[in-house]
Amino acid sequence: MRSCLLVCGIAWVLNAVGAQASRAVLPKALHTLVSAPGVARQLFPLKRHPVVTLTFDDLPAAGGLAPDETRVDIVTRLTRELRANHLKGIYGFVNAVDLNGDSDTQQALRVWVGAGMNIGSHTWSHPSLTSETPAAYEHNIALDEPALRQYGGKRNWHWFRYPYLEAGDTVAKREDVRGWLYEHGYRIAEVSLNFEDDDWNDPYLRCKTKHDNAGIAWLKRTYLENAAEFIPRGREEEQIALGHEIPNVLLLHATDFTTLMLPSLIQLLRQEGFHFASLPKVEKNHAYAIDPVVGVADGGTFIQLILMHRHLRLPSFRPEPVQELNSVCR
Ligand SMILES: [Zn+2]
Repeated sequence: MRSCLLVCGIAWVLNAVGAQASRAVLPKALHTLVSAPGVARQLFPLKRHPVVTLTFDDLPAAGGLAPDETRVDIVTRLTRELRANHLKGIYGFVNAVDLNGDSDTQQALRVWVGAGMNIGSHTWSHPSLTSETPAAYEHNIALDEPALRQYGGKRNWHWFRYPYLEAGDTVAKREDVRGWLYEHGYRIAEVSLNFEDDDWNDPYLRCKTKHDNAGIAWLKRTYLENAAEFIPRGREEEQIALGHEIPNVLLLHATDFTTLMLPSLIQLLRQEGFHFASLPKVEKNHAYAIDPVVGVADGGTFIQLILMHRHLRLPSFRPEPVQELNSVCR
């Protein structure tokens, strides 16, 4: 998926140079740090027991598929792992275009729901809001509803996740689509933490096809390193944006590789002290009522949009190994 982390990060840092930070909203200790040249790292100690909900985008067909695999295999392993960790009612965001005429994806979504997980909308065909008119985009959301109704039954499927985290490249477009979502009973499934987990899936499929065990070992190591880098940085962004951490929503994708890595990822989160909660419970936190009224072409997490809206800088971070991901197992 398109990444805002690198491009936006650089653009925002550049934008922030010379920009007036909204200092009135910041605790005093932060004023110096956010206005100092360069970007501060580790502003405050992180909470000992942060809260997170896991969410999975692009169901029922996230990323590429190895020739010997089915979507049912992946979703079966994914839900088994979630349940083994007592994680029920996890939200998966559906693009119903992938259900059309495909018994494997249809059955995969039945497996997801049958395992006690929830579904929400990710639009019908995963368009970029930046490239669409609001009317076309809203029509695309509406097209997803029959499948959500069919597979979600009586569960609350009125949760919406923006593809590419693009919530509108202009304020007018942002407000138009948000207005449509609220009129139609949706809540926005905001994201506070993202480490671009899906960027590891295509390289993994290449390495798997070539039986390149060294490549797979590298992918496993760097996936966890990237998670271990971006998750605390996301929590620092919350401190800069809001003065404190909030209960988190972690964006993941229901890919083959994230499914493979889920036990290690959950272990990492537990080591960091995370407790798990449901999406509705997490987003009840009053911080999620903030509306960062800003147009951003490349998207970003909820917290990154707040930082942009308030002209605050992002914390520094070690970037994702994009070039190596592109070249591994070629
Ligand atoms: Zn997506």
